[in-house]
Amino acid sequence: MLDAHNHLHDPRLARHLPAILAELARFGITRAVVNGTREDDWPAVAALARDQPWITPSFGLHPWHTATRSPDWLAHLRAQLDAHPGAAIGEIGLDRWIAGHDPEAQREVFTAQLALATERNLPVTIHCLRAWGPLWDILRTHPLPARGFLLHAYGGPAEMVRGFVKRGAYFSFNAYFLHDRKAAQRAVFQHLPADRLLVETDAPDLRPPDAQNPHPLLAPDGTPINHPANLAIAYTALAKLRDSRAAELTGQIAHNFARLFG
Ligand SMILES: [Zn+2]
Repeated sequence: MLDAHNHLHDPRLARHLPAILAELARFGITRAVVNGTREDDWPAVAALARDQPWITPSFGLHPWHTATRSPDWLAHLRAQLDAHPGAAIGEIGLDRWIAGHDPEAQREVFTAQLALATERNLPVTIHCLRAWGPLWDILRTHPLPARGFLLHAYGGPAEMVRGFVKRGAYFSFNAYFLHDRKAAQRAVFQHLPADRLLVETDAPDLRPPDAQNPHPLLAPDGTPINHPANLAIAYTALAKLRDSRAAELTGQIAHNFARLFG
């Protein structure tokens, strides 16, 4: 199984990471894209990927962290990408949900990274919360990477799927969508084109409902976090949702993952 989007380098996972890495085979996890979110955490992503060849590093400036950027942030991003052939760009995007967001800064940072992904034809992972209209305006008017892009944990409306697909989108399913209130999102994933599906955990974020969580885990401060092995319940749930055989879906996801991430 392939995790199209997580944050294994996150400090909240640090004390669990040795045990998780020792059990990868039992968990059935063979690849993961590990996403940095700000200049500060890119070195941790790079270090983990150096140590763990099954990890694809991804470097990006997340819309929650635009205010932390240095004047040379884009040059720093280019340098990380130069130093890590095969790396992706992400997590980047737009977010009008987070308190105190600055839409203009988000737009500037997002479009600069999108242009870099397009210039180098790199896989790019996009986060979007409550900004689907502005995201669509950018995606339909800007050149995009020829290989496509990932809308991670797609939470947008069903009506927008067709346009995103035309522009090259992949969509990753997360076990977070197993919460009762996420029925509309489960319905979206029921009907997405099979060749654009991926699966993710976003660990340590986006936990599945407690009743369906086989791997409860706590951060050092005692708050519950998402275990990377919850990838399996996302695969199982997606297969059930789409009425497809698990082996068939796993093969399809592997093809899709290879097409986007190489
Ligand atoms: Zn994420």
